[in-house]
Amino acid sequence: MTDHRTRVTPRRTADEVARAQARTAHNYHPLPVVLSDAEGVWLTDVDGRRFLDFLAGYSALNFGHAHPRLLAAAHAQLDRLTLTSRAFVHDRFADFCAALGDLCGKEMVLPMNTGAEAVETAIKIARKWGYDVKGVPADTARIIVAGGNFHGRTTTVVGFSDDPDARNGFGPFTPGFDLVPYGDLAALEAAVAANSGTTVAVLIEPIQGEGGVVIPPADYLPGVRELCSRERVLFVADEIQSGLGRTGRTFACDHAGVVPDLYVLGKALGGGVVPVSAVVGDSDVLGVLHPGQHGSTFGGNPLACAVALEVVTMLRSGEHQARAAALGDVLAERLQAMVGHGVVSFRSRGLWAGVDIDPALGTGREVCERLLARGVLAKDTHGSTIRLAPPLVISADDLNWGLDQLEGSLS
Ligand SMILES: *Cc1c(COP(=O)(O)O)cnc(C)c1O
Repeated sequence: MTDHRTRVTPRRTADEVARAQARTAHNYHPLPVVLSDAEGVWLTDVDGRRFLDFLAGYSALNFGHAHPRLLAAAHAQLDRLTLTSRAFVHDRFADFCAALGDLCGKEMVLPMNTGAEAVETAIKIARKWGYDVKGVPADTARIIVAGGNFHGRTTTVVGFSDDPDARNGFGPFTPGFDLVPYGDLAALEAAVAANSGTTVAVLIEPIQGEGGVVIPPADYLPGVRELCSRERVLFVADEIQSGLGRTGRTFACDHAGVVPDLYVLGKALGGGVVPVSAVVGDSDVLGVLHPGQHGSTFGGNPLACAVALEVVTMLRSGEHQARAAALGDVLAERLQAMVGHGVVSFRSRGLWAGVDIDPALGTGREVCERLLARGVLAKDTHGSTIRLAPPLVISADDLNWGLDQLEGSLS
């Protein structure tokens, strides 16, 4: 293996980075590494260096790179049928919808492609449900969202973000959203009470990923559930990043024993192969949509359904969730030992952690650059927080090696 302990960017990498920089919009600031191959939890770059994946595509790669079962499902489908549009039914559609519905304990599935589209879909469903079922006066529906949220990048979605980078310069925004502090049940109660006739949904992440793996107080999600049921408001859980095994359970909501009205899923649902997202709920909610009222050319395409069906099948055994829980204990134990030694504090659940680095040691970005030099790919979120989310298929040895590098980069 190449020695990573160098800050010098190799030539091929530098060339590719410069060429990309010249010819793409600068809406990202990637770390200076140019990846070319991957298998499992390891990637190779154009200069032959190997890297351990500690980000897993923000949980899109929960099963690692090139998982044999997912590749086999994709290859088999590629040779048969890849796209039909929803103008017709294809032979992978019903199986996928039934399997995902069963995994969620829900009756119906509405497949889309990206996470942001699934969030938009949930917003449209909640509003339509409000008008058709709850009897909210036309065009007055309100949806409550939480501070620190991340639900994607569409104009409607960034309109209710409180992150200035996500939001500033993109208005005017869609009205009808009320922002309350995350984890604050009293604030949520007050917001519902202020508009009890018109509030149709509470849209939250059960754990805020982009926000820095922020875990709400233990009574929060049960409180949200109770409040929503009492006030006839839909509880919409954005489990795009937290769901599908990441936290050691199938859904982050499972830890609180809570079932939302709508699950919003994405990222890992596509197995790191294709973008697949979905909104999952019962027929009394999803049934409000009728032909022509919502859709997507690529949503629920045969290739997506074949891969996502395999993802759901893999999750059904519980093996990946159990792995995330067991290795999550290792992760938490190792991070605990780093507190006071470069780590100020951390939050973790399963194989997912937000690690607040001592700002004296540098920004999150700088620590990620040091990790890169040591052969670990990780990503900062805000300021001095680094998010760790290795693929759930990682071995204990690789996990410990990656954490050794974190420890080393902080000393
Ligand atoms: C990533 C993410 C989204 C947006 O998904 P995209 O596929 O990038 O559009 C929405 N919500 C949460 C919680 C996410 O982590």
